Amino acid sequence: MAADVWVVIDHERGAVSRVSLQLLTAARALAAGTGGQAVALFAGPGWEQAGPVVARYGPGTVLVWAGEEAVEFQTAPLVAMVAGLVADRQPWGVLFASVPLGKEVAARVAARLGAGVLADVTGITIEGGAPVAEHPAFGGAVVVRKTLRAGPFLICLKPNAVPAVEAAAATPGSPAEEMVTVALPEAARRARVVERVDTSGAGRPAVDQAPVVVSGGRGLQDPANFALVEALADALDGGVGASRAAVDAGWYPHAAQVGQTGKTVSPQLYIAVGISGAIQHRAGMQTAKTIVAINKDPDSPIFALADFGVVGDLFDVVPKLTEEILRRKAQR
Ligand SMILES: Cc1cc2nc3c(=O)[nH]c(=O)nc-3n(C[C@H](O)[C@H](O)[C@H](O)COP(=O)(O)OP(=O)(O)OC[C@H]3O[C@@H](n4cnc5c(N)ncnc54)[C@H](O)[C@@H]3O)c2cc1C
Repeated sequence: MAADVWVVIDHERGAVSRVSLQLLTAARALAAGTGGQAVALFAGPGWEQAGPVVARYGPGTVLVWAGEEAVEFQTAPLVAMVAGLVADRQPWGVLFASVPLGKEVAARVAARLGAGVLADVTGITIEGGAPVAEHPAFGGAVVVRKTLRAGPFLICLKPNAVPAVEAAAATPGSPAEEMVTVALPEAARRARVVERVDTSGAGRPAVDQAPVVVSGGRGLQDPANFALVEALADALDGGVGASRAAVDAGWYPHAAQVGQTGKTVSPQLYIAVGISGAIQHRAGMQTAKTIVAINKDPDSPIFALADFGVVGDLFDVVPKLTEEILRRKAQR
């Protein structure tokens, strides 16, 4: 198994997050370079629902720890599972989603194993058998390339760093399914999860995982006007973000805040509506692949960053844009 590339599946009771599918795609590409296979690790209830989805993305093997205990005590069970299996089977490396849960688990596994972690990674290749990862630093102003001296290589890949691509053809009998159990030490049972609340809202993708993000700022002038941002996001099947000015005014929940003191997002498309583009906001979104800004002030700093800028009143532009997108979607 030494050449295998493992993926820790991020899911909520079997509903597999989009970033997990991206990780499986990346693992397949890396495994082609290491000469191993992609291996998925699944912990918790819901494998019946998740299994067929995971299989489409081509892991050769899945290691499943089913049952409630795996998700009952915060991150400790997942840490015990990953650290134990990695120590036993010595894969080339493990990919985690670079979201708060994935980064915490990776850091704790690294501490257990004395391994290094590459976090917030936006691109990865293999040179001389080791990973070379790219990640943005200083709020995205600089891109750093870094590597680890020795495996197991623990790598946290940011959502949308790579597209999720299904494996070309399903191999019969694949993936091989292996059920595993993990003996949880008493110390891992100290913090019990008592409730889970879905804060993504209205079935929209979470802002830090969505491939399209539409964010609103103070230019919206009133919380009710976030309906314009939501309608545009829904037309694009995207998530909704907000500037800190909008969040501080109580117009939108803090969970949606993009920026230095909010979420860092790297979607394929980021649309800033009535946002000036302060440095602290840019720190959270400037690694987006394509940035569109809608602002009535032609001198607004956001235009220095935008790939496409619309100088205009958002109350005119956004409804027309949404209408046109819906019209074109209906024609498809
Ligand atoms: C330590 C620290 C941390 C911070 N962290 C964050 C953070 O995480 N995220 C963040 O966003 N900010 C953060 N900030 C705040 C940041 O400095 C800005 O104050 C904030 O981003 C401004 O939000 P805004 O662009 O919505 O508002 P404004 O700067 O007021 O911009 C509103 C924009 O809307 C435009 N506008 C107005 N009316 C219309 C209209 N009708 N049509 C089109 N455009 C219109 C205006 O031209 C203007 O450009 C932080 C600040 C500090 C000091």
